[in-house]
Amino acid sequence: MVGPDGRECKLILVLNCGSSSLKYEVVRMPHRQSLGKGLVERIGEEQGLLEQKSGEKKLVIEQKISDHKQAFELVIRALTDNDEGLVSSIDQIAGIGHRVVHGGDKYASSVTIDEDVVAAIEEFIELAPLHNPPNLTGIRVAREIFKGVPQVAVFDTAFHQTMPPQAYLYGIPRKFYEDFKIRRYGFHGTSHRFVSGRAMNICHRHPSNTNLISCHLGNGASITAIAHGKSIDTSMGFTPLEGLIMGTRSGDIDPAIIAYLIDRGYSTKELMNILNKKSGLLGLSGISNDLRDLESEAEKGNQLAKEALNSYAYRVRKYIGAYAANLVKLDMLVFTGGIGQNGWKMRERICRRLENVGIFMDFRLNKEKGSREGIVSEAYSPVTVVVVPTNEELQIAIDVYELAFGGDEEFRRRESDVIVGFEE
Ligand code: ADP
Repeated sequence: MVGPDGRECKLILVLNCGSSSLKYEVVRMPHRQSLGKGLVERIGEEQGLLEQKSGEKKLVIEQKISDHKQAFELVIRALTDNDEGLVSSIDQIAGIGHRVVHGGDKYASSVTIDEDVVAAIEEFIELAPLHNPPNLTGIRVAREIFKGVPQVAVFDTAFHQTMPPQAYLYGIPRKFYEDFKIRRYGFHGTSHRFVSGRAMNICHRHPSNTNLISCHLGNGASITAIAHGKSIDTSMGFTPLEGLIMGTRSGDIDPAIIAYLIDRGYSTKELMNILNKKSGLLGLSGISNDLRDLESEAEKGNQLAKEALNSYAYRVRKYIGAYAANLVKLDMLVFTGGIGQNGWKMRERICRRLENVGIFMDFRLNKEKGSREGIVSEAYSPVTVVVVPTNEELQIAIDVYELAFGGDEEFRRRESDVIVGFEE
């Protein structure tokens, strides 16, 4: 297949399969160009919904969608729709990339899916009981429908497999690690990998001489220390509950609080629900998990909103300090995710007290930049602060292109372009 510029190209279908949803995007490689994306929701419910967008074009299908197989059939119908479709024939899809949440300690990078990979994802269901099962369903159905098309699994955990034992071991008896695989795994790996690579491109730096900290601040939030293109520590742990204060997740708390509350009549299930869904910005403020709501309340003088925002920023700062100490030298600080990319006030709140680690934000530039990609630090700042919109789907497409079609030589040759997460 030939792209609009006459270059040979491949269309990659990127899939993210949840328990009742299916997100997809078609990316033209090596052009790194999205042809459009879609979302199927309420699979298994009375009334299902598919919405697909491509530039100005929009397609909506409302009907009952009994299971994931039917969801895939609907996606194919939408992709090949005469008026609003993204491809003229489904045979144009040359490769498929699946987002998979947990690759355990087995996968340190993306991998072409075969029976062994399917078995490993199944094995790691015990580590990610909510996410790996639907991911696996997506893989099974896609392999059935797209026979012969190379399919790649891209794990949220893979990028963090380079962490040394001192970062991934918890200070609990070793037998819990040996018997139950309890250790830090880390998540959001695909996003940290994408934005760190992109930030290095923007700053014309190479991984071999770059240390950076990337902050993925969305509804879920995590922060990662990256040395020479490799994750050396990250704030999410055995599960995504650890680390930063998030939209509705608590992040770090004293583990003894759980025993204390169990003694006072709370069940484990209730507590897990509270810590995952009713804590964080929502729990602290009692107002909302949405940064925009809290910023506007704080502006009106709401004390609880102010405290929630300050606690959020304080926790991010604390991690930046800890990671700066462990990186020895820090070159860049990267912000991404809904809050990191758009919340310029939160970026300012975080960076206001970081001059002692060499982070001098240009507050005027930070505000002006808003949600756009680019540098937001002073020219004299030893640490360059960069805003990068994340694009996990593109990173997945890049991985599929690398593994199934050998990647983009021309792109790789350009001096300032780096691909993080693959062995050189
Ligand atoms: P998820 O983890 O669900 O992918 P997102 O990365 O979309 O979440 O981030 C959601 C968060 O981003 C919300 O707290 C939301 O308030 C915040 N956000 C989105 N847009 C803006 C904006 N323009 N200004 C400030 N915050 C924003």
